[in-house]
Amino acid sequence: GIRAPATKKTTTLTVAVKCRPFTEAERGRDIVRVHNDKEVVVLDPDLSKDYLERIQNRTKERRYTFDYAFGPNSTNLDVYKRSIHSTIAGVVQGLNATVFAYGSTGSGKTYTMVGTQDDPGLMVLSLNTIFNLIEKDNTSDDFEVTCSYLEVYNEVIYDLLEKSSGHLELREDPDQGIVVAGLRSIKVNSADKILELLNTGNSRRKTESTEVNATSSRWVISFVHKLARSFGDKGGKKTTKEISKSGYQRKTRIGGSCWKVGFFLRERASETNSGGQKLRDGANINRSLLALANCINALGKQQKKGLAYVPYRNSKLTRILKDGLSGNSQTIMIATISPANNHYHHSINTLKYADRAK
Ligand code: ADP
Repeated sequence: GIRAPATKKTTTLTVAVKCRPFTEAERGRDIVRVHNDKEVVVLDPDLSKDYLERIQNRTKERRYTFDYAFGPNSTNLDVYKRSIHSTIAGVVQGLNATVFAYGSTGSGKTYTMVGTQDDPGLMVLSLNTIFNLIEKDNTSDDFEVTCSYLEVYNEVIYDLLEKSSGHLELREDPDQGIVVAGLRSIKVNSADKILELLNTGNSRRKTESTEVNATSSRWVISFVHKLARSFGDKGGKKTTKEISKSGYQRKTRIGGSCWKVGFFLRERASETNSGGQKLRDGANINRSLLALANCINALGKQQKKGLAYVPYRNSKLTRILKDGLSGNSQTIMIATISPANNHYHHSINTLKYADRAK
C-alpha cells in the first residue's frame, strides 16, 4: 500500500481558542479581559454592577481549559508558531495532520485560516512551510504535492474544483482507505497556486442558500507524496511519468501524508437567533459537526485513558477525516470566538464544543 511510514503511533489532539479583537463597529461596546494569554474571559458590559458582584461571589463560574488560548492581540503567526509549526515537519516526514477552525459566523474562522496580506492565516503559513521544507530537502525531486477542495453541505459532498460538481460518493479503497470517488486532485508547487485554486473554488460554494441553520464545511486536502524512482511499472495507476536523461522513467508513490485544513460555515440566518435568544446546543449543529464533536471527544479520551474507539463512521465528514482522526496523526482544533456580547451564546456554545474535546 502507499500508507505513510509509521514513526509515531498515536493520534494527538490539540485544542486552541482564539478570541478575535473587536471590529470597528463593535469597538467601545464591550469589555474583554485576557489573563496572561491563558484565559479568555468574555464579559457583558450591559450586565448591572450588582449582577457582576453577585457572579463574582459565585463558585460556579464557568471555566474551560485548553492547550492554548490566544487573545485579541495575538497574530495568526503567534497561533501558528505555538500550536501548529511543530506538526508541519511531521507532514513532510509522512505523518497525517488535520487543522480546522470551528466557530460561529463572524467569529474569525476565515481570518484565522486564510488571513490577510499583513497577517497571513494558518493555511498559508502551513503550506509555505511545507513547500520550504520540501525545497530544502535534498530529495525534493521525489515529492509531489496535490490539492483537492471539497465542501460537505447537508451530508452531500461537492467538488469545489469542478465547474459543476455532482454529488460525490465515498468509497473504500484497499490501498488508500476511504476516498472521495471522482474528487479532482491537482498537482501544485506553491502555496500561491493552492490559494488560487481556493479562490476559484470559493465562488462555487453551496452556502448561499437561505436555509436557516444550514451548516457546511469546506476542506482543503493536500497530499504530500513521497516518490521513489523505478524503471519498472509498479502498479499502473500509482505511477507518474517523467522524462529524464534516461528517457521515460516512472516514479512510484511509496509513502504519503495527508494535510487537511478545514473550516465550517454556518448560515448567517442563524445569527438572527443571537439577539439574546438562547440557542439550544445542537439545534444549529448538523450531523457532520455533531459526529466530529463525538470523534474529537473520543480522541481526547483516547489520549487520556487509552480508549481506542473513535466513531468516525457516523457522518460523511468524519469518514473523510478518518485518516486524520486515527493512526499516526495530529489533529489541531482552533475554536474561534468573538469578544462581543451579542455573540455571547455562540461563544459559550463554541467553548463547550471545544471543551468536550478534552
Ligand atoms: P468567520 O469566517 O468565522 O465568519 P471572519 O473571519 O470573517 O469570521 O471574521 C469576522 C470579522 O472579524 C472580519 O471583519 C474579520 O476581518 C475580523 N477579524 C477576525 N479575526 C481577526 C483578527 N485576529 N484581527 C483582526 N480582525 C479580525
